[in-house]
Amino acid sequence: MNPQWKKETRAIQGGYRPGNAEPRVTPIYQSTTYKYDTAEAVAHLFDHPEEGHIYSRISNPTTEVLQKKLADLEGGIAAVTTSSGQAATTLAILNLCQAGDHIVASSSLYGGTYNLFNYTLPRMGIEVTFVDQDQSAAEIEAAFRPRTKAIFGESISNPAMEVLDFEKFSQVARSRGVPFLVDNTFPTPFLCQPLKLGAHIVIHSTTKYIDGHATSVGGAVIDGGTFPWDNGNFPAFTEPDPSYHGVCYHERFASAAYAVKLSYQLIRDLGTPMSPMNAFLTNLGLETLHLRMERHSQNALALAQYLQDHPRVSWVRYPGLPGSPSAERARRYLPKGSSGVLTFGITGGQPAGEALMNSLELASIVVHVADVRTCVLHPASMTHRQLCQEEQQAAGVSPDLIRVSLGLEHIDDIIADFDQAFRRLP
Ligand code: PLP
Repeated sequence: MNPQWKKETRAIQGGYRPGNAEPRVTPIYQSTTYKYDTAEAVAHLFDHPEEGHIYSRISNPTTEVLQKKLADLEGGIAAVTTSSGQAATTLAILNLCQAGDHIVASSSLYGGTYNLFNYTLPRMGIEVTFVDQDQSAAEIEAAFRPRTKAIFGESISNPAMEVLDFEKFSQVARSRGVPFLVDNTFPTPFLCQPLKLGAHIVIHSTTKYIDGHATSVGGAVIDGGTFPWDNGNFPAFTEPDPSYHGVCYHERFASAAYAVKLSYQLIRDLGTPMSPMNAFLTNLGLETLHLRMERHSQNALALAQYLQDHPRVSWVRYPGLPGSPSAERARRYLPKGSSGVLTFGITGGQPAGEALMNSLELASIVVHVADVRTCVLHPASMTHRQLCQEEQQAAGVSPDLIRVSLGLEHIDDIIADFDQAFRRLP
């Protein structure tokens, strides 16, 4: 691939280059396993897994194409695809932590990530301290413990719509010698590249914009390849792994140590790969991502402007809207657009919100965001239902909050739909 090509071109042309008379489109290698001519060839692969495919739980030619593209678009050195975004986050943490370890995370998170961090990881002996990202760097550092192994945030948080303070978090990560992990699901690499803003590892729910058509649940972890795993805090990278005939990941795989350990140790053992079929569909989505993110962002800004002037709307949160709490960070970190999700508060609280959602005709009520169809959701009674009121508040979820994910329909039709639904409110 021509290294001069721009990201838009690489998203289409990257990852796969057919030879003469080979399929133009990346084929779906729907095969669990691979045939070898000699026993020695297979034995060699166990020592050099990066040289070929052994078994599709660990690697597969179709998922490999998607992985290469994702790594390239995020500016990392390797990507590992997973069965879901939740699996990506879980593995990204388990690759760093074991029982007795600890991480620091922004409190403004997707509800599923909050549950994972607040309940499931502690059951496995991994503690999480949540911090308000508006606290000072010194206050955030005060949450660190001797066994803290990472700091985590979402580049645009779901559904609080706060833009992460990259500078502060990366400064804290550097000063404490731990990697900075960023869930970049909402902006995608076309609107924000966390690795260029001090992050070491990027996480995606590819289920969202990267697929973009609501067909395939999936995730990805991208390794920036820049973290110094030999800084004394990460013996799992520098000491022999007895489950992998004594490999020292840092020594053997150098800057790709994190990605290799994640697939060849964790996905091998926990079994959460992306399927070839989902990789194929996700890769199709990725080919148009740059165009879609532009339009999702334009549509969201236009609806945000309409809502902010509406008498039944008490507040609107969209980072790209001037005056929004994250507007200054959006200007710095999201110059090409703030993605396609916004939230607003409706006067009359939850009952009015439910009535509005029930009256929408074009926008549908679905537990999803980030696909081509406009949809709405009431997080307090749906995605964040398991959280108590204080936890909902910390995650930026109030009872009057409605989340809208702008699709790619014509903005006039989307606004007309909200208009007619508002007019039907009592
Ligand atoms: N991260 C964010 C920001 C999300 O919005 C979601 C899901 O909505 C996830 C992670 C989890 O992804 P998945 O649903 O693919 O497991």
